[in-house]
Amino acid sequence: MATGIRIAVSKGRILDQALPMLSGAGIVPKEDPASSRKLILDTCVPDLQLVVIRAVDVPTYVQHGSADLGIAGKDVLLEHDGEGLSELLDLGIARCRMVVAEPRVLAAEDDPAGWYKLRIATKYVNTTRRHFAAKGVQTEIIKLYGSMELAPLVGLSDRIVDLVDSGATLRANDLVEVEQIAEISARLVVNIAALRMKHGKLTSLIERIGNETKA
Ligand code: ADP
Ligand code: MG
Repeated sequence: MATGIRIAVSKGRILDQALPMLSGAGIVPKEDPASSRKLILDTCVPDLQLVVIRAVDVPTYVQHGSADLGIAGKDVLLEHDGEGLSELLDLGIARCRMVVAEPRVLAAEDDPAGWYKLRIATKYVNTTRRHFAAKGVQTEIIKLYGSMELAPLVGLSDRIVDLVDSGATLRANDLVEVEQIAEISARLVVNIAALRMKHGKLTSLIERIGNETKA
């Protein structure tokens, strides 16, 4: 294990909100992640690098110790089943909710208390299965990688599990939220072995990032 520290950050809206937070903690990349083609970014802190990657890949890098710390959405962490990493902090950024949604016409005569078998399209297969299994509801899950809102409009599924923030996309497609599964925000995760072996460096870094949280 190298002695330097590497932080994996989810691309997209998490990166946008994490950069000011990291900057407040004294960590500023030497090149702009938005325009740089480099995959590993040095920072103003010696021996501290950022890697900016797809959200779903962050837990994988941290689990295997290729990044010591990671910033990932709770949605991704709920879905990732792997050991070796631990959630440390709720950063309070990229907040949204994971919900079950369905067409307005279906919702008009639907009762979640009476659900027994559901056909659901989602990219959150594991989380959806777990949520409904705990309630004794059977699920037929159709895995998608994006635009879940389309599925019920074209008969691929009756319902979807997706993230919502303002609800504008649901409304635009005549869908309504019928049940909440989880509150989502970005979390700081750590590789457990790294935390042991680089304890001093990592704890001071974690504390500095913790002071910047919006939780
Ligand atoms: P991707 O293209 O991988 O879906 P996004 O930037 O859309 O990338 O999502 C990355 C992360 O941002 C998600 O894992 C989630 O934690 C968070 N996120 C997604 N949608 C929203 C939203 N509407 N509001 C706030 N955070 C969100
Ligand atoms: Mg997205």
